[in-house]
Amino acid sequence: MTHIRFGRIWPRHGTPETNTPAQLSASPAASTAWHALSPQQCQEQLATSANGLTTEEALARQQLYGLNRLTPPPQRRWWTRLISQLQNMLIYVLLLAAVMSLVTGHATDAAVILAVVVINALFGVLQEGKAEQALASIRNMLTLMARVSRDGQRQTLDAELLVPGDVIHLESGDKVPADLRVFEAHNLLVQESALTGESSSVGKQDVALALETPLAEQSNLLFAGTLITQGRATGWVVRTGDDTELGRIGSLLRHVAPMATPLTRQLDQLGQQLSRYIVLLAVVTFLLGWLWRDLPLDGLFMAAVSLAVAAIPEGLPAVVTIALAIGVQRLAQKNAIIRQLPAVETLGAVSVICTDKTGTLTRNEMVVRALVTPQSQWRVSGLGYGPDGQIQPLDASAPAAQGMDALQALLRAAVLCNDAHLQHTTEGDWHLDGDPTEGALLAAAQKADIDWQAVRQQRPRLHHIPFESAIGFMATAHAMSDQVLWLIKGAPEQLISRCLATEHQAHWRVQTEQLAQQGLRVLALAQWWGEALSSQLPDVGWQWLGLIGMQDPPRQEAANAIAECQQAGIHLIMITGDHISTAKAIASQLGLAAQPTALTGRELDALDDASLRQRAVTLDLLARATPANKLRLVQALQAEGHVVAMTGDGVNDAPALRQADIGVAMGRGGTEAAKEAADMVLADDNIATLRDAVRRGRNIYSALQRTLIFLLPTNGAQALVLLLAILCGWAMPISPLQILWINMVSAITLALPLAFEPLNPDLMRHKPRPAAAPLLQLGHWVLIALAAVLICLLTLAQYHLALLWDASPQQASSLAIQGLVICEMFFLINCRRLEQPTLNRDAWLGNHTVWWSFAVLALLQLLLCYLPVLQQAFATRALSWRDWGLVWLQGLCCYLAIETVKWLLHDQLTRPRLVVDHHAR
Ligand code: ADP
Ligand code: MG
Repeated sequence: MTHIRFGRIWPRHGTPETNTPAQLSASPAASTAWHALSPQQCQEQLATSANGLTTEEALARQQLYGLNRLTPPPQRRWWTRLISQLQNMLIYVLLLAAVMSLVTGHATDAAVILAVVVINALFGVLQEGKAEQALASIRNMLTLMARVSRDGQRQTLDAELLVPGDVIHLESGDKVPADLRVFEAHNLLVQESALTGESSSVGKQDVALALETPLAEQSNLLFAGTLITQGRATGWVVRTGDDTELGRIGSLLRHVAPMATPLTRQLDQLGQQLSRYIVLLAVVTFLLGWLWRDLPLDGLFMAAVSLAVAAIPEGLPAVVTIALAIGVQRLAQKNAIIRQLPAVETLGAVSVICTDKTGTLTRNEMVVRALVTPQSQWRVSGLGYGPDGQIQPLDASAPAAQGMDALQALLRAAVLCNDAHLQHTTEGDWHLDGDPTEGALLAAAQKADIDWQAVRQQRPRLHHIPFESAIGFMATAHAMSDQVLWLIKGAPEQLISRCLATEHQAHWRVQTEQLAQQGLRVLALAQWWGEALSSQLPDVGWQWLGLIGMQDPPRQEAANAIAECQQAGIHLIMITGDHISTAKAIASQLGLAAQPTALTGRELDALDDASLRQRAVTLDLLARATPANKLRLVQALQAEGHVVAMTGDGVNDAPALRQADIGVAMGRGGTEAAKEAADMVLADDNIATLRDAVRRGRNIYSALQRTLIFLLPTNGAQALVLLLAILCGWAMPISPLQILWINMVSAITLALPLAFEPLNPDLMRHKPRPAAAPLLQLGHWVLIALAAVLICLLTLAQYHLALLWDASPQQASSLAIQGLVICEMFFLINCRRLEQPTLNRDAWLGNHTVWWSFAVLALLQLLLCYLPVLQQAFATRALSWRDWGLVWLQGLCCYLAIETVKWLLHDQLTRPRLVVDHHAR
């Protein structure tokens, strides 16, 4: 989208003179030209202050302006759905057949055909509605949180509660929650692609602009839905909900995305292709029956139409849609929120998971355990962010007071060079607002009786270089009487070379290594004094303060999840910004590998693409990783043919997340920027959830595969019965009308249960499927063909046997109908397991939906046989006990025969099991 377009969509605003504070309450502040006002004027117009509103005032305004959210798209009505269900080639043919039947005097036929059409369509509407509901419920799961000042305090609030006049604090990675007028900005860069489609970032400042500045250049406004890619900002909310620029162009974006994935498209194509062949087959059959077999034309026409209807698996699209939707919904219940629908299928094919260590494998609940100053070493006890715990010298013989000054200096620096806030909640525990690494530092300071809030007030911050994984440190400048104090804290390697004289470097490297080998995350700190403030970090003159080692306990469920993924042939790579020794210690604690194969980010940078590809396939962990490293690693693995899931949380992780086959963002610890780039969000940041998602992905894929393997032969058998009868010139064993009935009842009962298959433990004992493998392999096709022929032949045998035993044609047909349906029921059980026999309890009883559908189907079939109206409409007869025995015998024969076929085809139907450890390769 160009800037010209940009200006056209966004209307000009009114002049500032037309707004008075009184008008603010009368009309939403939508038409004010906020960019042209000075901060002072904005504040007056919004009747707010730099400290924001009071909760009371905010609630009052919420009454006036409503919630800060976009009006959802209108729901499609059921009759629009019904009409779209009816727009289908097959339906047209059926309607034509109904008209023909009416014209030729077969009114009941016409009525039955119409009933079939209507019931099929209604059923389609029902399923579609269910699928849409499932997806809609997920759309509301990702709530946006905003940092707001209210009552003079910083709080984190649901962005829906924002009102004009609120003060919002934003930093890199955040999504802008409403339209804002910025009054404070540092190095601010914003990516506005949500509005403009432009993916490069634009700069923003806190200056007033000329009134006629076009919207695209209103650089003191932040627009809802855009992303902060760098810097930080504070601003007033000026417009919310539908009044925001996003809301105004919203009508363009608000269409409902169709449920389409590569697989559904592949299936659609298959369906269309099949339909074409089937229609052709029906035409040829019609011609043959007419010219060769001399069959009466009107009956033949009905037969040809029924043949087409029976053969086309028209229920397939609905089943696929519902299988995907239910899968997405179940994933969401398990904390894995799918943002891009195709991810559901890809998940099942994942062969490498690259996972962050901090927060995903570990709990991201940091506790400082060790402090090392130039004078002495200290041990720290206690759990959580509370002040309970002690700091004791490691060398118990040394007097406790010795080296206290150095310790205090280290911890004061850790408090100042720190953006976190700790709050004592009413429940008595401690709430952290900020990075856990920094929260742990505040807790440690409290244990040394340092009042961190007072320290921060004494030394106001003048300048700030935020922490980024790519640079590995953060720095702040503070006012200290008439001097400037610089503090730097970060990864020891970064600081050792920058802040220490050469002769001291080796000593501190050893100290770092010692802490890291215990699995501790290590931070170094240094300080600098000077007269004047420059925006650059000083080069020389640093004073070394020491090291801080913190523990981040592994998640309990992580070791298990790792083992299960490895068993499922999925290669896990742990990625962290931490020191390589820290990472190795954690990796072996988690059982990732006994002797982990490791690389550091710098070593990875030194590899060329070819050697990286070679190393990547046996890698266990990547330490001191930068976002750029992650991107290269994903590319290398993909070049080796892997399907890669990559987790990420930071702004800069977005490219790697987009590149990965499954980009996974962290719901709690992740930035909004990462979530926007991801295919899936883990609401609980947990590796076990990712494992569950892969398992569910495999389950959905196999459910679709099974559904197809079930539907094709059952439709095929119904059609074959008609086809053979016409071509052989026999009397119809099952009349066209009866075929339509069977087709309808089986479509609304039997097609669905396989989409609801519960998770099967066996799913995680196979290698991942190759990404490019077609849904059905040769073995599957053989099974499909054999099953279709078998069911058809058994049905014909049943019919002819009955005739031999002097049954009337109607009686024989009734037997054939019931026999055909029973075969389909047994075949459904066959299809529940393709790799194993189904001669066990679980295969029969493990899926409740199967039995519900059987119950409904049985009821319908009994009605068909015993209800006089239906007996008349479909020319059926009641069956005797002996007849029922024969019918069941037919089903049983079919079941056992298919089990035998499965056993014979075993190698073709099964993917290789249990993989060797990837180190053995
Ligand atoms: P991870 O991916 O494991 O979270 P990070 O990139 O966040 O790793 O951190 C890498 C290293 O950077 C840490 O080992 C630590 O030394 C340092 N570090 C982490 N967080 C901060 C911070 N807030 N300020 C300064 N240094 C930090
Ligand atoms: Mg981190």
